[in-house]
Amino acid sequence: MLLDPLYMILIVVGMALSLGASLMVKSRFKKGKETPIASGYTGAQVAEAILHDAGINDVTVHEHQGFLSDHYNPLNKTLNLSPDVYRGRSAASAGVAAHEVGHAIQHAQNYFPMWLRSAIVPTANIGSNLGPWLVIIGIMLGAGAEAAGTSGIGRSIAILGVALFAMATAFTLVTVPVEFDASSRAKKQLQHLGIVRQGNEADTVSSVLTAAGLTYVAAAINSILMLMYWAYKAGLFGGRRND
Ligand SMILES: [Zn+2]
Repeated sequence: MLLDPLYMILIVVGMALSLGASLMVKSRFKKGKETPIASGYTGAQVAEAILHDAGINDVTVHEHQGFLSDHYNPLNKTLNLSPDVYRGRSAASAGVAAHEVGHAIQHAQNYFPMWLRSAIVPTANIGSNLGPWLVIIGIMLGAGAEAAGTSGIGRSIAILGVALFAMATAFTLVTVPVEFDASSRAKKQLQHLGIVRQGNEADTVSSVLTAAGLTYVAAAINSILMLMYWAYKAGLFGGRRND
């Protein structure tokens, strides 16, 4: 199975997509870091200002080690910004900080796609790990049952594997609107509060956030391709694939 040429092609396509997206983020983030903002806000100040304006008082902003490791944690309501973003006074740091606040605002407003994403997480984690193995086990059991002339429970196991993997794919799909929504909130707030100026500053923020969003699109495309592969192997596109 792992030596299946089709599988290898999909892995290579997936790696190329992820690599392309992450190189784009890195280069745009680097350029964004070199674009100062006239307001002179640090990423931490940007976050505080937007949280305050949105009337959110129970989210704390922290400095967090790691390159581009910025995230909002809904469990303890913390906004964790990497040193580059927390201390930076650039279009990149303002954009990323505002994006993470966008997630905090989504959480405060019970934004439906974000809620759905959290609800899917446990099944998605199981599905991405266990799904492919169930398809493989199902195919092997199916082949055995066919040889023995008995009905195949294998097919049901393979279909269960595909269904579980589909949850992992659903997770990557729901993530896309969550991310683009956080970025669009970020751009509006930066403008509204006068933190970022129209023109070069705002354009640079946009280019950094769009590139970051594309990494999630790449992940979703990867997951759809793999889902189609496992569905094909499980015989869901007609015919059985025992090879
Ligand atoms: Zn995000």
